Amino acid sequence: MTTHQTAHAAAIPPSRRSDASASGPAVPGHSRLRPLGLGEVRITGGFWGHRQQINAEASLAHIEGWLEREGWSANFDLVRDGDPATARRGREFSDSEVYKLLEAMAWELGRTVDPSLEARYTALVQRVAAAQQVDGYLSTAFGGPGQEPRYSDLEWGHELYCYGHLIQAGVARARTYGEDLLVEVARRAADHVCDTFGPDGIASVCGHAEIEPALVELYRVTGERRYLEQAGLFVERRGHQVLDDIEFGRSYFQDDVPIREATVLRGHAVRATYLAAGAVDLASETGDDSLLAALTAQWRATVARRTYLTGGMGSRHQDEAFGEDFALPPDRAYSETCAGIGSVMLAWRLLMANGGSEYGDLIERTLYNVVATSPSPDGKAFYYTNTLHQRELGTVPAPDRSIGRASSSLRAPWFHVSCCPTNVARTLASLAAYVATTDDDGVQVHQYAPSQIRTRLPDGRAVELDVETDYPRTGTVLLRSVAAEEAAWTLTLRIPRWAEGAVVVVDGEHRPVAPGTVEVTRTFRSGDEVVLELPVAPRFTWPDPRIDAVRGCVAVERGPEVLCVESVDVPEVDHVDRLRLDTSVAPWEADGRVVVRARPRAFEDDAWPYPATGPATGPDPRYPDLDVTLVPYHDWANRGPSTMRVWIPTT
Ligand SMILES: [Zn+2]
Repeated sequence: MTTHQTAHAAAIPPSRRSDASASGPAVPGHSRLRPLGLGEVRITGGFWGHRQQINAEASLAHIEGWLEREGWSANFDLVRDGDPATARRGREFSDSEVYKLLEAMAWELGRTVDPSLEARYTALVQRVAAAQQVDGYLSTAFGGPGQEPRYSDLEWGHELYCYGHLIQAGVARARTYGEDLLVEVARRAADHVCDTFGPDGIASVCGHAEIEPALVELYRVTGERRYLEQAGLFVERRGHQVLDDIEFGRSYFQDDVPIREATVLRGHAVRATYLAAGAVDLASETGDDSLLAALTAQWRATVARRTYLTGGMGSRHQDEAFGEDFALPPDRAYSETCAGIGSVMLAWRLLMANGGSEYGDLIERTLYNVVATSPSPDGKAFYYTNTLHQRELGTVPAPDRSIGRASSSLRAPWFHVSCCPTNVARTLASLAAYVATTDDDGVQVHQYAPSQIRTRLPDGRAVELDVETDYPRTGTVLLRSVAAEEAAWTLTLRIPRWAEGAVVVVDGEHRPVAPGTVEVTRTFRSGDEVVLELPVAPRFTWPDPRIDAVRGCVAVERGPEVLCVESVDVPEVDHVDRLRLDTSVAPWEADGRVVVRARPRAFEDDAWPYPATGPATGPDPRYPDLDVTLVPYHDWANRGPSTMRVWIPTT
């Protein structure tokens, strides 16, 4: 081992230190739209503000406690003390959960002042740093006395995957604070990766993509071109069968087809979305338009054919993977929370690169119906998988037991593989970064939340907006200019695809607007208001007939929220599967809840279920027609075990 890498980890140039305009998870040097960071957008309340508060006040400490309890943080102490093999606990990738917690803490500290959190962050960083080898190598699972050698299992070892999360944590800290020990540790690890996997090094990749977007982001923070080039090597190497074949096939880790030749996302859904996100980052920095075009086409195909109504991705439990086109069974939806987050990461990068409302649409759909679904109201239990149809009542997990990842129908406090809670935490802490962007002409608002937007356009014009809304409860979004100096610029608002009949009000004038985007160009003076009225009334949603698993069913949505029926709301029938929706009656709202008309059907119990004459499908004479109250899918199981359906058969 040598020490030169330590010296190589130079300080971040002062010009690139944290500033308000660069503090988000993904900040391209070149893109059509420039992201606004945590210093420029603050979510001040509402649906997401509340969840950010729970995340800060409960989830971070909950996760920190479980990492201690499971010994995953202490694994770093074992490495420091020179004997990790005998007492190490957790799976080979458990280091990454500590890094994702550090990333969440770093974003949170960039959002709020919290000396206690700062102290906990600092203490944890010191434990991580103490486990780093002199040459930058850092893993509690490999390379120590009595452990398997470094990089001896690239298919499953996750060493580079863990570095990816370490580096993203370092990037978060660099952008919200500046140089510190975590940033140094991340840079030393990145230098070690470049030394080891560079042009003359190991010519392979990690079985789990993640280092790719992380290295591009560290390049964006530091200006160190070597990191960008290393990300390029990893992206281009994959797909040439550099990893061993496995039981799930090489598509599992996207090593089946070079990324430029692929036509759709496939294999393990988290791996696929992280890789694609990193490849968009790479394309943005290198001006590689053909790579960007390939990824844009893959995204379109994936959204059109391999995505659940909730935005969830991945319909295979066996390998946590995408299924074939239109293979989207609701009762077998894997729809891992992390895959939803990976999808948000990818769509956000494509939005910045390409512009267009479709990316913000999917981000919104996925945030409300996957990311918001995962955590419990108290922030101390999570969904890992997100089924769209629960056939049997679940059992309440013990609050002090870690469980298998998909074995519960209810949110669980912790999992043997616990990637999702930490991923939710870092996403919620950095959520303001997904709200708005700028270009030379103005500001684009993509997500509607009570918020404050404070920025300057490249030529110095000040844009200061207060956004007031209780969306999605109502569809009214008020945007008020509060800048002291008047300036002419263009406000661009996303009109969701479902929002037929939206109206924008400027100077008292009502203007109908179609789904897509609407631009308001004017001289904004302090107090000027633009009001967007989005029609959030509940509506039926019908599936493409090629999605066989839900043919003959309908879903109900309200604004950006997917709704579901839960057994606790239909005590009149013995099972939600008995319900058929009467679609001749439009869904309506009563007392703030959505109601539909349903007719219970008769079943022939204990009979051969494939009768030659067709099943008995008539109404069950025991039941009258029912008015059934639906709940947002993200709230399901909040009242204890229930059976549940998103897609409901029609009469
Ligand atoms: Zn996960």
